[in-house]
Amino acid sequence: MVSQLGVPTLFLTLSSADLWWPCMYRHLGVSPGDHSEKELSKIMQRKLNENPRVADEYFAKRVDEYMKILGKKFNIQDFWWRFEYQHRGSPHIHAVLWIDGAPDVRTFDSQSTEQLAIFRQYYDSLVSAINPNINKPPAEHHPSRLQASEINLMINQQHAQLLNRVQRHTRCGTYCLRGRVGHQICRFNFPKDLLSDSKLEKDDKGIWTFTPKRNDYLLNDHNTFVAVSWRANTDCKIIASEYAIISYLSKYASKAEPQSSNYKQYFNDIVSSSKQKLQ
Ligand SMILES: [Zn+2]
Repeated sequence: MVSQLGVPTLFLTLSSADLWWPCMYRHLGVSPGDHSEKELSKIMQRKLNENPRVADEYFAKRVDEYMKILGKKFNIQDFWWRFEYQHRGSPHIHAVLWIDGAPDVRTFDSQSTEQLAIFRQYYDSLVSAINPNINKPPAEHHPSRLQASEINLMINQQHAQLLNRVQRHTRCGTYCLRGRVGHQICRFNFPKDLLSDSKLEKDDKGIWTFTPKRNDYLLNDHNTFVAVSWRANTDCKIIASEYAIISYLSKYASKAEPQSSNYKQYFNDIVSSSKQKLQ
């Protein structure tokens, strides 16, 4: 796809708020109003364990429909994605999007400073690390629980409540810490330095990178429209070099998981046990 369409514009990750989305309550027969949020999350975890197929089918349908909205909103020419599953079966997707009319990153070396500044502004419109209100206290209900009719994309307070609940890297754990004990660092590089203006520049290896403006050490890079409309954790980054897309796809988004060998074993076991039954 890269050789035919050129370098894509964005990396996008969409996670699932399967404990909190109102549609999940309906599909799993749960009345959220009858419970505290702590109870609700326990009930939902049990329901999701018992009905993984429902959660998976709903997520697949939701991303399918959502991509149609994004396609129109951002003039998406094409996309590639991969589904991954975490504990309890929670799905998320990693996607790369080709946006019509986006800058061609392979020309950056020969562009003027003025032209690069225009590209940087274009990227500012796509990716942000700005929190409209870091001190906004948590909402009474998890913001992913809002019904579609209650969501207003223009209300900054709703925006801040959502970011503060699902979009900040507030806890590092085994999944992100790398290195030996006592010298561990977060593989996503949190906490990140604040930045009063975005940067489109070459890093110390000579690779073009875009870094968005940032007023919050812990906020994920995100697209504001996507964060507010998807209603779960998201991540959005500019692909500013051909090297970035190749290393992302080969090292991260499409890598083989160590668990895959177990999956293969699982099928081998099914085949050999069916053979025994047939004999
Ligand atoms: Zn971390």
